[in-house]
Amino acid sequence: MIVLKFGGSSVENATAMSRVLDIVESAASRDRVVLVCSAIKGCTDALIEIGRVEDPERQLNDLLNRHIAIIRRLFTGPDREQAIVDCKTIFSEIRCIPAVIEQFGEILSTRILARKLHTEGFKTTWLDSRDLVRTLPGSTEADTKATYKAISEAIEKDAVARIFVAPGFIARDPNGAPTTLGRGGSDYSASLYAAALGAQDLEIWTDVPGIMTANPRDVPAARSIPAISYGAAFDMARYGAKVLYAPAVAPAREAGIAIGIRNTFDPSHPGTVIAAQDEPGCKGVASMETAPGITTIALVCHQTGADATIRRIGTALREIGVRPLSEPVPDEQGNILVTVRTLVARSCVAALHREFFEARALSSLDVYVAGAGAVGRALQGIVKERDGQFPAAGKRINLLEISSNHDFADHVLQTARSRSVFVDCTNSKDIWRKFVPLLNAGINIVSSNRRSLAIPYADYAAIKAAAAESGCFFRYNTTVGNALPILQSISGGEEVTAIEAVVSCTLNLVITSYKGDGSESFADILRRAQREGLTEADPRTDLAGRDALRKLLILAREAGVPLEASEVEIHPMLPTEFFEGSLDDFYAKLDAYEGELARQETFLHEHGLRRRFVASLQREIPGQAGNDGKTAWNEGDAAGNDGPKACGYRAVIEMREVGIESPYYWIDGTENVTVIHSVDSYPLVIKGSGEGVRLAAAGIIKDILL
Ligand code: ADP
Ligand code: ASP
Ligand code: MG
Repeated sequence: MIVLKFGGSSVENATAMSRVLDIVESAASRDRVVLVCSAIKGCTDALIEIGRVEDPERQLNDLLNRHIAIIRRLFTGPDREQAIVDCKTIFSEIRCIPAVIEQFGEILSTRILARKLHTEGFKTTWLDSRDLVRTLPGSTEADTKATYKAISEAIEKDAVARIFVAPGFIARDPNGAPTTLGRGGSDYSASLYAAALGAQDLEIWTDVPGIMTANPRDVPAARSIPAISYGAAFDMARYGAKVLYAPAVAPAREAGIAIGIRNTFDPSHPGTVIAAQDEPGCKGVASMETAPGITTIALVCHQTGADATIRRIGTALREIGVRPLSEPVPDEQGNILVTVRTLVARSCVAALHREFFEARALSSLDVYVAGAGAVGRALQGIVKERDGQFPAAGKRINLLEISSNHDFADHVLQTARSRSVFVDCTNSKDIWRKFVPLLNAGINIVSSNRRSLAIPYADYAAIKAAAAESGCFFRYNTTVGNALPILQSISGGEEVTAIEAVVSCTLNLVITSYKGDGSESFADILRRAQREGLTEADPRTDLAGRDALRKLLILAREAGVPLEASEVEIHPMLPTEFFEGSLDDFYAKLDAYEGELARQETFLHEHGLRRRFVASLQREIPGQAGNDGKTAWNEGDAAGNDGPKACGYRAVIEMREVGIESPYYWIDGTENVTVIHSVDSYPLVIKGSGEGVRLAAAGIIKDILL
């Protein structure tokens, strides 16, 4: 048995009905057919209106005339006369405005179809669904046991008919009164007929080519979903995809019958097959108004691990300037729901459809990552989460290789296509030597490795020149303050007079953790930081200000100052003898020094001061050799000033004691503060978290996409 269901739009007029008849007749050549049909388009609404208004004469005549017009087109001679009489008889019942007046729409349409099939020579039986489909008390849900029994008996009784024609939508309640299966319920009727008869095929024919990735009326780019599971189809339906009435899924599913959704106006299109299997991934977007002015949008997505999807939804909505009324949340099936104002719902559905179902013309970037450490792997993770897609930037990242091999740069040089991106997130001190050859080969460079920048000025300048000449980019914004916009703020073109920065995360962490109250000694804090891998292998490198030096060089050069490492005065926080000898000696000395450090800390505390390790660059005013190098917040003693440097700036790294008015006073853990003084404006203060693997990776991605 084949069960075919046609919706209202498939029987809107005589032309549409003729299409239906063609499809039914072709199926009848293969097997017996149950044709379930809806009322003609708009008929159910019109009947409800007739039952509601005081004087429905005009609406009654309009509806009658629509049916008569169809009959006139389909029939001739005595068949036409009989069809008209039959139609008018049904209308005389409607004129009495009976209860459940909407039951007559399906009766009208199916009586016409049954008569037409009969006149064309098919053995046809019209079934009154009100006698076969039973609902449960007070519900539009079917009493399947009673329904299946009645349907199968009716069919068994009639061995002759090739085609059964049955109205959809209508049923009888347990008291025997006519009722319906709810708006859109003809799909459900068809599924019940199919399940009752163990049909080999169940096809729901409508005006679209299957269940689509979104309502094609809202999203013209929607495309049909070739295959979908019962569960996902049910979810599309219950969240608003009107193409299928959600209760229709269960009977077919329980009977193991696949449901085809087909387009009456394009019968060769395969449409959608709803069955048990499913490919993982997102299926479509559905939406419905769930409260006045509020619409819930569902991304139907049978998958686990919703976090990345939720983030993408957030980004897609932000891109069109919409702030959802609630954060996107997964339901128990893993679909993601988000509520928005109905006014913007259409644009939101379109935006989500673009994000998840439309391959946008993103330009692709081939990326090679040198350094498979924590940052490299985090970078890889982010790219994977986003499936390489960064639509806000209009780009797709193709992460081709990630490696810690020392000859990886050479490998990239030999294999990468021009305009690829080489990312240096290593700790290597000589990988920068490959930068000029890479740039000359047309390969862009992004580096988060400070060592690659803190090189002799001439080498730094050569890399910059190679980049300019090849038209490739060379970006390293994460080398100072990770994702904080520090370097971008300097290279804006304004003449910089001074830069000050508390940028050494390790030292910040150690210094801000130290209380000097006996809770944890300075040496112990340092040991802990070393154990946790926060310091260099020899933490004295940090204490000696190496990291701050590298950052200061990068900052200065970004401001156009050709500073060399040898020009920077460094005043480490500990006396010189601490930096000689073995690491054990060092810790022994530091333990012995705890009393002194605690004393200093107490003194500072009593005076409302805090220690901060500050790197500064200050323009020397010509003719004023011996300028004290102090800047707005420099309360410390800038010792060792020995006159102007070749670059015209004085660069100092030193421990300062700062009061509450200083921007350095309130910093926690690994926070950074950078203050940029320029000729024409007030100082710019940039403060924020400067450490963290994910931040670093996100900063590198920003550089790649810039
Ligand atoms: P029928 O009269 O055949 O029962 P319906 O009007 O009930 O047809 O359902 C078909 C309509 O469902 C389509 O015209 C379309 O506008 C709407 N629709 C909503 N969401 C979807 C979707 N995801 N895929 C296809 N159609 C959808
Ligand atoms: N004619 C009914 C309705 O409009 C049932 C259906 O079309 O499925 O709701
Ligand atoms: Mg429908």
